[in-house]
Amino acid sequence: MKITFLGTGTSHGIPMLGCTCRVCTSSDPRNQRMRPSILVEADKHIIIDTCPDFRTQLMRHPIRRLDAVLFTHWHADHILGLDDLRPFNYWQEGAIPLYGSAQTLDRIKKIFSYIFEPGPYEGAPNVQTRVIGGPFDLDGLWVEPLKILHGKLEILGFKIDDFAYITDASFIPETTQAQIKNIGCLVLNALRYKPHPAHFCLEQSIQQIERINPGRAFLTHIAHQLEHQEVEGCLPSHIRMAYDGLTLEL
Ligand SMILES: [Zn+2]
Ligand SMILES: [Zn+2]
Ligand SMILES: [Zn+2]
Repeated sequence: MKITFLGTGTSHGIPMLGCTCRVCTSSDPRNQRMRPSILVEADKHIIIDTCPDFRTQLMRHPIRRLDAVLFTHWHADHILGLDDLRPFNYWQEGAIPLYGSAQTLDRIKKIFSYIFEPGPYEGAPNVQTRVIGGPFDLDGLWVEPLKILHGKLEILGFKIDDFAYITDASFIPETTQAQIKNIGCLVLNALRYKPHPAHFCLEQSIQQIERINPGRAFLTHIAHQLEHQEVEGCLPSHIRMAYDGLTLEL
């Protein structure tokens, strides 16, 4: 299985519009972060979240077929590239399955009402929502939803084989920690140095990683306070900063 980080930035992307800080103006491409998403390639191609940069991301990492989208939650930085699924409808038969919690899919249906209302606009993407009620087989890949809290909102991370992807978490319940204890590879969000009500800050993220004890871990959903090389220099060697375009062979 191959993982490609399509985007590793927080909701506004890095550089942030109008910002002249050292990270937003950095010449290190690892400090330029699109909104968060990953591509999972096994026998199938799966995307986790269709962020507003979805089209640009897939221009950089072209795929001809997309078998499913998994949604962590319905916030704009995770769903607003949804309409850009349309080209795949030209290249492949059938509706593209969209997996998410009942609440996430319900919100997506409201936000993209023109796709889901009766007699939809004929130019709308051909998609089909599938509510995640527990672990499920996705065309041969075993996917376990991971319940986490994002502020007060319950959202999902995903465990696929020996890999787990968690973004936008501010709390990981004991049951979820047990699900991913000692996992081979963990991706976890780390926003900035200062605490935030709805996202782990760097220190909290490192504490969580120590508890979960993965073989290796990668940080994502990163804001412009964190300079890539500087932060990585302070991290233990099994924890790395993810960056756009980073690929992992698992
Ligand atoms: Zn987010
Ligand atoms: Zn900045
Ligand atoms: Zn969010």
